[in-house]
Amino acid sequence: MRDAPPKPEKIRCDACPVMCYIADGRSGACDRYANEDGQLVRLDPLTILERRKEVGGGAVAFLGGDKEWNGDVISASNRFVTAVGAGTTYPDYKPAPFIVASEVNGVDMITVVTEGIFSYCGAKVKIDTDRHLGPERSFVRANGEPIGHVTTGEYGSQMLSLGGVHHLTGGTKKEGRVTCAALLALCNGEAVDLTIDDGSELTVQANKAPIINGITEKRMRVGCGSATAGMFASQWKGLVDEVVVVDDHITGVMSEHQAGKVIGWAETGIKVLGRRSTPGRYFQVAEPGTDWGGTNLQDPLAILGDFNPKTAVAGLSLLMVSTTGEHFAYYELDENLVPVEKDIPDRLQPSILRIEENCEPALCSVLFMGGAGGSLRAGVTENPVKLTRSVQQALTRVTCGGAPVFRWPGGGITVMSDVSRMPDNSFGYVPTPALVAPIEFTVSRADYEAMGGHMYHVMSLKDAIKGITGPQNDHVLKGQREIAPNADNPWPEGLT
Ligand code: SF4
Repeated sequence: MRDAPPKPEKIRCDACPVMCYIADGRSGACDRYANEDGQLVRLDPLTILERRKEVGGGAVAFLGGDKEWNGDVISASNRFVTAVGAGTTYPDYKPAPFIVASEVNGVDMITVVTEGIFSYCGAKVKIDTDRHLGPERSFVRANGEPIGHVTTGEYGSQMLSLGGVHHLTGGTKKEGRVTCAALLALCNGEAVDLTIDDGSELTVQANKAPIINGITEKRMRVGCGSATAGMFASQWKGLVDEVVVVDDHITGVMSEHQAGKVIGWAETGIKVLGRRSTPGRYFQVAEPGTDWGGTNLQDPLAILGDFNPKTAVAGLSLLMVSTTGEHFAYYELDENLVPVEKDIPDRLQPSILRIEENCEPALCSVLFMGGAGGSLRAGVTENPVKLTRSVQQALTRVTCGGAPVFRWPGGGITVMSDVSRMPDNSFGYVPTPALVAPIEFTVSRADYEAMGGHMYHVMSLKDAIKGITGPQNDHVLKGQREIAPNADNPWPEGLT
């Protein structure tokens, strides 16, 4: 009887500090790399943008080494190798996985492509709603773990700041793991359930309406209460005696408001309970909440004091409306000058519809934010600060999965990118914990050489598309997928 063949040895992945030993047929801790017949394989296909491709391209295997490339049917200059699926050459003591030469409008360009491991990263989330989600600085939690906080609200939106190095590395092991998982899901466009201390329960998903305490938000407000009063002052004039636009931030009162004054609205003797900022603009009329205009009001009359009998008259009409038009009520003063609710008259219906019409759909926006100022730069150039300077001087263009980024001024390479403009499943993770995000640096060949780029590792775009990898790679690629670029994105190499 012959001995069984020796069991293949495990291979070691060095694409992140975990350094997994991976047995044949198994994948590493992050499921991004596997051991296939003794070869380290990057499992997700390399994603290539193809300018004339219909949306929805699938993954294809690379040609075998014995087959000839016939890719001239579609010019390579219409393709861009993104970092999605490209792999990592951590910790960047060797050049990035792909350093690709292309020609754009007669200019020789180089794109350095890598999947960066970001320990310093997070997501800024904009939630289009008037509703109060929780006090600023309150913890945002996923699965009970703090993963971020409520930050400064913006015009018509509430903002969350999620992730960051303190939650990824500075808390308990579970906090780091949960933070990383929530960021990964959000950045890959999945729905994530969150709770806010002393606030709401949320479901957040990029480019989808937020769900707040189980209710799907429909509309983003037309403006604050004061702006709404200004916008519709002339349309309401002659139809109703008084309008109050209820808003947690700035409640507008038409007869007192500058907009009402200049077009001749008469005084009504109304008294609004709140802190008067300027005429017709009131702060703090109620507590923040999820009802009328982002307040805790279910009965808007609670913000009114007694009407002044010297000015008010019985029969005076009053419209109260929220900044989205979601809440509205119509009143007339009785003989005691007390507002009595009545059916809203037909003449006022179009103005409510006009407010709704002017509200945009409520969405969640997720921006990945990361700092590429660390060792990742060494995969681009021998002198990392030269990449930083080149990016700061706008000689080098940064993209994430081919999507444009906003680069923060100041030191380092700190960028933000809208995840909905990136290819599907652009993000991965490693259990350190950290997020893996695609990043590409595109620069003219001359400038790349001048910054001390790894010129000996430059390969042609056609070779990269064929699946050929550079000598710096100790992994092979599983395949590639060609997808159409997002229609809202400029071509990542620029110059077109
Ligand atoms: S976690 Fe993933 S990237 Fe890191 S060593 Fe293991 S297989 Fe490689």
